[in-house]
Order: sequence, then structure tokens, then C-alpha cells
Amino acid sequence: MTTKKATHQLTRQHNRDLVLRTIFSHDSISRAEVARVTHLTRTTVSDVVNGLLSEGLVEEVGRGESIGGKSPILLSIVADSRYLIGLNLAQDKFTGAVVNLRGEIKEIVEIPVHDDNGEKALKLVYQILDQLTRKKLKPIVGIGVGTPGLVNTREGIVVNAVNLEWQDLPLSQLLEKKYKLPVWVLNDSQAAAIGEYVYGGEHVPDKNLIVVNVIHGIGAGILINGRLFQGDGGGAGEIGHVVVQENGELCRCGKRGCLETVASARAVVQQMKMASLEEVFLAFQDGNSKAKAVVENAGHYLGASLANLIGTLNIQKIVLTGDMTRFGQEWLSAVNTSMQTGAFFRMTEDTKLEIGKLDYRACILGASAFLLLDDYSLLFNEEN
Ligand SMILES: [Zn+2]
Repeated sequence: MTTKKATHQLTRQHNRDLVLRTIFSHDSISRAEVARVTHLTRTTVSDVVNGLLSEGLVEEVGRGESIGGKSPILLSIVADSRYLIGLNLAQDKFTGAVVNLRGEIKEIVEIPVHDDNGEKALKLVYQILDQLTRKKLKPIVGIGVGTPGLVNTREGIVVNAVNLEWQDLPLSQLLEKKYKLPVWVLNDSQAAAIGEYVYGGEHVPDKNLIVVNVIHGIGAGILINGRLFQGDGGGAGEIGHVVVQENGELCRCGKRGCLETVASARAVVQQMKMASLEEVFLAFQDGNSKAKAVVENAGHYLGASLANLIGTLNIQKIVLTGDMTRFGQEWLSAVNTSMQTGAFFRMTEDTKLEIGKLDYRACILGASAFLLLDDYSLLFNEEN
């Protein structure tokens, strides 16, 4: 291909992604409004939209309000024109779902996980994907996997997932070979962050966001200018294994006093010497004073870690997801108080801390939507 032709094609793809991204982030929008938002000419927008209409990705959905003259035709994404699969490989159960382009879950498969790890855990992943790809929903254009642990997303390798006993597992390669679909693998907290960002209700492109996922472990996903920031080694946001208590409890990573040993769902269950978080939650609801103290202490340590994140990144919106959010307002205010106390006042006074809206779905939706953040190529049948 000549350089000139290649440049031309890149420009077309860039324009196409820009227009599609704009239509994605609105329920419906006119061509003129797309041109205004994207700073592309009306002719370019019309050309691109014609392509999207013929691909069946976009449809005309009626007329909007007139601002003098003819009322404009509105465009919208065709939610069920393409499907994606998202997986959440959580501690106690693996969940997979077929998701449409509006983040609606169309089919869901759940498999409880007992002591399955290594090869056995991998078989469970196959089991879920076998079931989901057999469903009638077509075309499926890709598979996104959210897994605990350290992940090299670029190469699709799970570097180290302690509880699954996966080390340097080339997960995307294995799945691509088996299912003949593009596969991307990312850390579950990073996936949850994308889920909240894209489908959490107030999706504004190019914004910053931190999502902290507090489950058996603790991790944060960081979005900067609308893109996931993974750091040099893929582990950006791995705050769970930062030591916060010298000579504290032994952590599953081998160190003592990690944030996970005081602020995670696992830590709370252990400190209460109970069998499950459910049991702790019931005691907490009953007004059990020890349960209250343990939950508050967990919130306190988490807040101190958030203060560090704010000091480093000065991101003003933090969303909390995961099992610990069950403890609601009381836990949230413990986190908030300690965060406010721990960070520079003028930086935290504008920081909004809230509980996410998507619960366990955040990871599934985010895993499925990862590539939609800035590359829509896989939605198209051919390069155009
Ligand atoms: Zn640790």
C-alpha cells in the first residue's frame, strides 16, 4: 500500500471511530450535532453515517426538535446488531454473559468455583464459553475476560493469579484458538472500572475516574482521559498488596499487613471468625458492635489508601464496587472520613466518593467493552 493510501485509510478509520463513539455516548443524535461535537464537516459525517447505516450498526429513529427549518433525523446505535462476551472470574463463582452494544445482558451463565484452580479452573472457563457461543445470539465479535491477579493485557497473559494458581498463562491465545474470536484479558478491577465508566450512567468521554473494587481482594482501575491506565507492568491500581500495617496479618501474597489483610471482604470475615460475608452482614444489620467496629476499621484503612491515590493522581471521582459495598452508608462514611483526613484538604474537598451502580455486572460489562473504548474495528465485517 502506498503511504498516501495508507494515510487516507487511517483518516477514514479515525473519522469513523470518532462518529461512532459520539453516537454511542448519546441515546440519539442528529448528523448536524455529530458534526458539531466531532468538529468534522457535515459531508464527512454524512459519508461515515451512510457506511454505518449499511453495516446495520446505526439506525434512524425519528425526528428531533427543530431549531428553525426542518426537524433533523435522529440516529442511534442498533443495540442488538453485534454482541460481545464478558467474563468475570471471581473468587467463588465464574460468570459469563452475552452483552449487546448498549451493555444489556442477554444471556448469563454462572458456575460456582470451589477449590478449582490451574487446569481445572481453565476447564470452567471453557464450559462457560461453550454454552454462551452455542446460543443463538449472533454475531459475537469478541470475548473479554476480567480475571483477578496481575495481567499483561497487550500479550493476553495472566502473569500471576494467586487463588487460581495461574502463572504466565497465555489465556487469550488459548481462547482465540478454541473459539476463533478476538480475545482480550484484563485485571478484574480494571474491567470493573471500564464497566462503571461506560455503562455506569454518566459516561462522558475523556474524563478521569478511579474505581476501587473491594472483594476478596482489593484493586483499583484507573481511567485517565477516558483510557485505562495500566502502568508499565500492567499492575496500575494494585493497591491491595501495599503494606499498611507493619507486622500485621499474613497475606496470601506472602507479606504481612497488606491492605487486603485489613480492608477486604476476606479480612472482615476472618476478623469476625465467621464462615461467610453474609453472616457478617447479618450480624452487622443486627447492630452487633464487634461487626460494626470491624467494618468501620476496614473502611478506615481503605480510606487511607484512597488518600494516597488522590495525592498521586488528583482524580476527583472515585467509585467503590464489590462485596464490601453491601455495608452501605456506614462503611462509606468510614472510608470517606479517613480519606478526607488523610489527604490534602484542598484536594479532597472536590473529590466525589460514591458506590457504583452495577455490582458484579461491572466486571462483565467492562471486560466486554474494553476494546470499544477506542477501537471499533472489530464491529465491522470488512475494513472500510
Ligand atoms: Zn498481600
